[in-house]
Amino acid sequence: MSWVIERARADIRALQPYQHAAWEPSLTRMHANELPWRVPGDESAAGLYRYPEPQPPALIQGLARLYGVTPAQLLVGRGSDEAIDLLVRVFCRAGTDNVIVCPPTFGMFSVAARIQGAAVVTVPLLAKDGFALDVKTILELVNEHTKLVFVCSPNNPTANAVPAQVLLDLCTSLAPTALLVVDEAYVEFSSEPSLAARLSALPNLAILRTLSKAHGLAGARCGALLAAPEIIALARKVIPPYAITELTVEAVAPLLEVAGIAAMRARVERLLAERARLSRALAANQMITRVRPSQANFLLVDCRDPDDVLSRSRRAGLLIRDVRQGALPASLRISVGTPEENDRLLECLR
Ligand code: PMP
Repeated sequence: MSWVIERARADIRALQPYQHAAWEPSLTRMHANELPWRVPGDESAAGLYRYPEPQPPALIQGLARLYGVTPAQLLVGRGSDEAIDLLVRVFCRAGTDNVIVCPPTFGMFSVAARIQGAAVVTVPLLAKDGFALDVKTILELVNEHTKLVFVCSPNNPTANAVPAQVLLDLCTSLAPTALLVVDEAYVEFSSEPSLAARLSALPNLAILRTLSKAHGLAGARCGALLAAPEIIALARKVIPPYAITELTVEAVAPLLEVAGIAAMRARVERLLAERARLSRALAANQMITRVRPSQANFLLVDCRDPDDVLSRSRRAGLLIRDVRQGALPASLRISVGTPEENDRLLECLR
């Protein structure tokens, strides 16, 4: 057993997973307590009267091809939110273990840890250094009960990316104690590469990917955990057997073919052009004191009067996100919209 698997909860390692009904599509299903009739109005290909295939191969294969990993290195879940939850549940013993998070960052890392009863150790990003990762303090605070170190790159809400080499060195330094979990939700918008190609060389690396951002499929709830096959095998024991709906499989799998991916890349290019335009226009606006460089599909802006910016936007029918907190006392987060939506925002701030 690798050291990484030894760091997982012993009770999860020993767990006998739920045995779902056998998947043998050539035979008539009288073994899963489904109804035998398709419901009128059900337009799905497979029929919603049947349970979907667990960890559906069509999705797994499409996602593995997209991310350049093997199917055994990938688990598909309901968004990357589910992958975060699975990692915490597989590795953290309630009341004993801890995770490290680097605020300001995506809130689900600490929420998922707290739900599991794991302690949350915070190592703030270095605000005066462009929100760089404080690797030295992370390594000082890792202890025998640290199981996961969450790093979001590009980071929500600060919009900066951690250089790949910094993450690779950190991952190596965390052995043989903790996993490095890199949330790459926004990597398609970034000039930094995904670390997926490094998975096979780094047994304690886990990567979160999602179809909710660049792929424009947030409503489908589809994300992936990329990790060593033995970590994926543990996560598969914990995820509910029918987590991915048949509707999701049928809607999403075709979009992962070559044409769908080419269209996604073209949309990302459009988004990046709009990000640059919006960024320039906001930087020239009197109400905005700073627009931070962005590697994501949103802009983090500092405002002279954030409440005024929020209320003007709302009056114009636009929601932007208040992300004010310790290191970001006057910051709002703006998701790049269509050219028309961005124009409306700029208009209401004039
Ligand atoms: N990670 C980050 C950094 C995010 O910002 C978000 C969504 N806001 C998620 C994960 C969750 O994405 P999903 O829709 O895949 O659950």
